[in-house]
Amino acid sequence: MTVPTKLHLSDLLPLTCSRSGTCCHGKMVRLNPWELAHLAQAKGLSPREFRDRFCEFGGIRLRFDGTPGWKGQSACSQYVPDFGCSVHLGRPLACRLYPLGRQRQGKNVQYIFQGKDFPCLEGCPEVLDLPQLSVAEYIAGQSAQSYEVAQDAYLEVMQNLADGAFALLLESGLAKSGDRKTLRLWRKMGKEEPGQLAKRLGQEWIDRLMLPGLFDDMNDPISFSNKHYEVLVTQAQESFGALQNLADYSKASALMMGLALHLGRGLGANPTSLAEHWILTAKNEHGALD
Ligand code: SF4
Repeated sequence: MTVPTKLHLSDLLPLTCSRSGTCCHGKMVRLNPWELAHLAQAKGLSPREFRDRFCEFGGIRLRFDGTPGWKGQSACSQYVPDFGCSVHLGRPLACRLYPLGRQRQGKNVQYIFQGKDFPCLEGCPEVLDLPQLSVAEYIAGQSAQSYEVAQDAYLEVMQNLADGAFALLLESGLAKSGDRKTLRLWRKMGKEEPGQLAKRLGQEWIDRLMLPGLFDDMNDPISFSNKHYEVLVTQAQESFGALQNLADYSKASALMMGLALHLGRGLGANPTSLAEHWILTAKNEHGALD
């Protein structure tokens, strides 16, 4: 297993980009709904058009189906040979931070890179001839702050959706009834491939999750994500209004959990670990069964 190298904000690294574009080949760039809206804006398309043409699994990942380049690896769908990124102003957080990663635990944020050796050197050794930057200077120069705020805000939306799944399991009497199906379905969804889970959730809910259509709040990720969550809750209440029996509550709980897991994958989380964490909480703290 690759051990991440942890960084201090004052660490000086060859973080000045040589613009060779090797980093735009053979990668996996995940997206949250706010990033998807900004990519679409930079491309001059609607979020739906951008999602349908350039993303996978309902919008949680950029397609990498461009002309193969570095090491024969496929380029990002937004990479233009001999030019670079065609959506530079709206590029997502993963691209703004690369080659750094960001881990958040509670209020603690840690910047890292994977492995022992600085990743850029493999594809672009010429960065050693460029001026070094501190981690803090690099992040400031990438205008990453609002993208970090959006990432953290959508982590909260993910947790709130999972809380909704818990409420439907616990407050309906489903957990007390001895039901095992619901937690088993949470586990199954955690293990599903992204395409499988997207199919299970259905196009209507995938669209609601990834295309909130909040064009007035594009510059304020907190307002954007809060309003998006409110809309999701209203839509859930409308479709769950007629829940009549425990089987209906189980289905509704699975839907909310599935949405949390799919969004979580777009935020870089591991859905299998997330599902297991929430199953353990339901069992140990609330007496639910699997
Ligand atoms: S969005 Fe732009 S910067 Fe990010 S991988 Fe694609 S081409 Fe590269």
